[in-house]
Amino acid sequence: MTQGILVINSGSSSVKFALFSDDGLSEPKPLFKGQIEGLGTDPCFQVKDSNGRKIDARDEWPRGSTLNHTGALRYILSWLEDCASNVKIQAAGHRIVHGGLDYEHAVRIDKHVLEDLEGLIPLAPLHQPHNLAAIRALAEVAPKMPQVACFDTAFHRTQPRVAQLFPLPRALAEAGVRRYGFHGLSYEYIAHCLPDVLPDADKVVVAHLGSGASMCALLDGKSIESSMGFTAVDGLPMGTRCGGIDPGVILHLVQNLGYDAKAIEKLMYKESGLLGVSGVSNDMRDLETSDNPHAAEAVDLFVYHIGKYLGMLTSALQGIDALVFTAGIGENSPIIRERVCQRAAWLGIRLDREANRKGGPCISTPDSPVSAWVIPTNEELMIALHVRNVLQLG
Ligand code: ADP
Repeated sequence: MTQGILVINSGSSSVKFALFSDDGLSEPKPLFKGQIEGLGTDPCFQVKDSNGRKIDARDEWPRGSTLNHTGALRYILSWLEDCASNVKIQAAGHRIVHGGLDYEHAVRIDKHVLEDLEGLIPLAPLHQPHNLAAIRALAEVAPKMPQVACFDTAFHRTQPRVAQLFPLPRALAEAGVRRYGFHGLSYEYIAHCLPDVLPDADKVVVAHLGSGASMCALLDGKSIESSMGFTAVDGLPMGTRCGGIDPGVILHLVQNLGYDAKAIEKLMYKESGLLGVSGVSNDMRDLETSDNPHAAEAVDLFVYHIGKYLGMLTSALQGIDALVFTAGIGENSPIIRERVCQRAAWLGIRLDREANRKGGPCISTPDSPVSAWVIPTNEELMIALHVRNVLQLG
């Protein structure tokens, strides 16, 4: 019987999962990756094997039905029992968006941890409740299975205090209003790869460019600054999130344009970014192929802000040895990588166009003073590694 680790990333309308086999020695190996989407409206199960090939899976739910997190996890576990019957799932790891200041590392979940994490719901109301719902659901479906919480904030707890503080009255910082940073599991995975890929690079900026997008400064593999702060809406413009805007805009919306908190939340999280500026799509592929000038402007704005944050993070690092692109856009869009590297010529990045077209891994010329790279992220593997370490499996 093969030992397995189940990885879960649970949102409001979907539960994503990955199953890894784990011999406790070599890197855990992916077996299946899938999701149930549309929990509240027409659930749909999809799964791929370790080669990324789609597996035919019958949809079990009639149109118009709904599923809660417990139903979704029950289904996923029973599908795995049937289709991965030679794998004994020994533990599960969850992606948890917020670990506050106290959780600097992944941790085994018990009653007290769950209570602590519930206390952080006000800091991440759009994600944390759904992350925690999956923990409770799994405890119900598989009560004996050990569960580990892996945090998107934990990797950033190495940032210096000045990078974590807002210039607000101290009492607010003590009440938790401070910069936490997100996408930590992705940055941690990149940091985990750096000693093999770039053993001599101390000062590295990583651009995680997906539908959520952020950037992080790594000094000797540790986070010292990031573009996301108190919430995952700060920093770069994203698919539908606005990124950093003057807080005075919010006051204006409330005082003069009749917005309330719910309307502002919708505006900032769902209607802004690439979608809001282009009026066309939140998907970079659509924007790259559109003739609409507003689509071109949305792409210009995205590239401009990446360049701005690159300068800011290079200042935090006091220099830069390498720039790494990752996530959906970073891994798949030679156009965006080229435009970002062109704007970063002043930093000493010289793009190798052919290497960039082919997707790297190295996309800078051999004589480039600062190198540029494409490294596919793997947050699920990072979670599986945390589960193994926390539970000392193997
Ligand atoms: P997330 O995990 O934040 O949902 P991903 O990292 O999967 O997002 O990135 C998704 C985004 O990647 C898509 O919205 C799309 O804009 C972009 N993307 C994927 N493939 C390509 C491509 N070939 N060219 C440009 N953009 C792409």
